Amino acid sequence: MSAESTLLDEAGLRPTRQRLAVLQAVARETRPVTAQELHWRFRGRKGSPGLATIYRTLNSLTDAGVLRRFPAGEGEMAYRLCEPGHHHHLICERCGRVVEIPSCEVEEWAAGVAKRRGFVATGHQADIFGLCKACKEL
Ligand SMILES: [Zn+2]
Ligand SMILES: [Zn+2]
Ligand SMILES: [Zn+2]
Repeated sequence: MSAESTLLDEAGLRPTRQRLAVLQAVARETRPVTAQELHWRFRGRKGSPGLATIYRTLNSLTDAGVLRRFPAGEGEMAYRLCEPGHHHHLICERCGRVVEIPSCEVEEWAAGVAKRRGFVATGHQADIFGLCKACKEL
């Protein structure tokens, strides 16, 4: 079994040809990729999924927790295959670069904020937006 079909299996999704093709294409990208960009990558390849199928597949993979969705500007969404496990992101708003931050420095703060309001924290999400080093120096 390929790494991609194992991921699908663990997420409870059948490893269909379309899902595998989309997942493998996203996995090859170094930054989040939009449905339109994937469509361009596939163009001309025999039996490759159409744009509507790519959209649908990206959404089902994201809903199943296999991919992560990132804002790509102008209402577009971009998708990425993340490292497993809890982590945070630094996201460049200009070039779309995403840096994963494997250490969690938010846990204690989140637990404290929740506790003071009578909540028990069971999880949190935090991504930091800005400009990467290269874009900042433009
Ligand atoms: Zn990630
Ligand atoms: Zn950048
Ligand atoms: Zn965290």
